[in-house]
Amino acid sequence: MLTTIIYRSHICKNVPFESVMDMVAAAKLRNDQADVTGILLFNGTHFLQLIEGPEESVLKIYQHICQDERHCNIVELLCDHGPTRRFGKTGMELFDLREHDSERVLQTVLDKGTSKYQLIYNDRALKFLRTFVSATEKENYFEIPPADSWVFIPDEGESHTNLAAPDNTADCCFAFQPMVDPFAQEIISTEALLRTPGGGSPEIYFAGLTGNELYQADLNSKKVAFAMASALKLGKHSVSVNLLPMALVMIPDAVNFLLREIQINGLVPEQVTIEFTECEVISRIDEFTDAVRQLKSAGINVAIDHFGAGFGGLLLLAQFQPDRIKINRELIKDVHKSGPRQAIIQAIIKCCASLEIAISAVGVEKPEEWMWLESAGITHFQGNLFASARLSGVAAVAWPERKADL
Ligand code: C2E
Ligand code: MN
Repeated sequence: MLTTIIYRSHICKNVPFESVMDMVAAAKLRNDQADVTGILLFNGTHFLQLIEGPEESVLKIYQHICQDERHCNIVELLCDHGPTRRFGKTGMELFDLREHDSERVLQTVLDKGTSKYQLIYNDRALKFLRTFVSATEKENYFEIPPADSWVFIPDEGESHTNLAAPDNTADCCFAFQPMVDPFAQEIISTEALLRTPGGGSPEIYFAGLTGNELYQADLNSKKVAFAMASALKLGKHSVSVNLLPMALVMIPDAVNFLLREIQINGLVPEQVTIEFTECEVISRIDEFTDAVRQLKSAGINVAIDHFGAGFGGLLLLAQFQPDRIKINRELIKDVHKSGPRQAIIQAIIKCCASLEIAISAVGVEKPEEWMWLESAGITHFQGNLFASARLSGVAAVAWPERKADL
């Protein structure tokens, strides 16, 4: 299958242009052998390359390209399939945009094309070339430093520790994970994550429960969550708990149950956030928003969890605006390398800014993911990079320090 990949990258510091020419010569040979063709545009700082050919060869060559140390911040913009090659003449041609008159440069690039049709019709690949040549997207090219320019140092001095004796009469337990603002070195909130008494996952805890049993178990578990949060002496910190949205709809008096448990455990509603998973919300939106109105009237904050993972994301947001949106790990994963993920997250950020909704990124594992998200404007993060979930306790947060500052 004829496959096309387009990526953008940044030339590394101290890489002379001659070394790029050497790379082009080597690539030309390799691409010819693999029946891969394309074009490489360079504007003095950035590359934009289109490679096309048999799927397996294109993927293999792209992997090879990603390992080349002469460029960095490599972002895959397009991976698509088509009937014919656009640039079929050569294994690899370097096109230095600086050598051409800016008025005519796009046409000169297009003149290199070999396809009769795609260069004329509304072709996505062609549009990427046009946008790069006209540099209209430049403000979205975030140049992030290498992963090893930061070290993450656990803050052992923090007072949160394990609970000496968690309530072992309860049929559930909780792990806690902080959500942090790394630059401010501040814990924004601590999330209680359901576990079996032995530390098993929420799925294991809920396994075998159906319908109202499930909702009742979920709601009841919050009694333990608030008791443990209170025993952890989180002080004025916010506490977040997850709840199936239908628990609020199906169980009479669920909101009062939550308010009572919050009060019994010495917490105040304003420091509590309830996180709902979006795909379950949309099915009975009217009843759900009614229950949420009660929560909000009592002072409790509401977050939409796993935003972007379900079907209802944008429609739900049109109908109901929470205090916070938590972006799903699947969108966060390798965001620094993926054009589509970057575009989606930037759109979410813009949307939440217009609606004054706080955003956090969940499941951040890599320094590059965090740095890209910070550059895009996200300041609140949860993930193993900073602190993993810990059963009956809160792990010390590993705050980032720039190596040069140490
Ligand atoms: P969530 O609310 O998005 O919670 C974050 C999940 O991601 C947690 O998994 C956490 O351990 C995991 N995680 C945190 N940092 C990282 C990371 O850097 N990488 C990766 N790969 N994972 C990370 P956990 O505890 O297994 O919870 C899974 C989901 O189960 C939660 O996702 C939440 O939606 C649900 N859940 C947890 N507690 C409850 C609860 O009390 N009630 C209900 N209904 N659902 C719950
Ligand atoms: Mn959650």
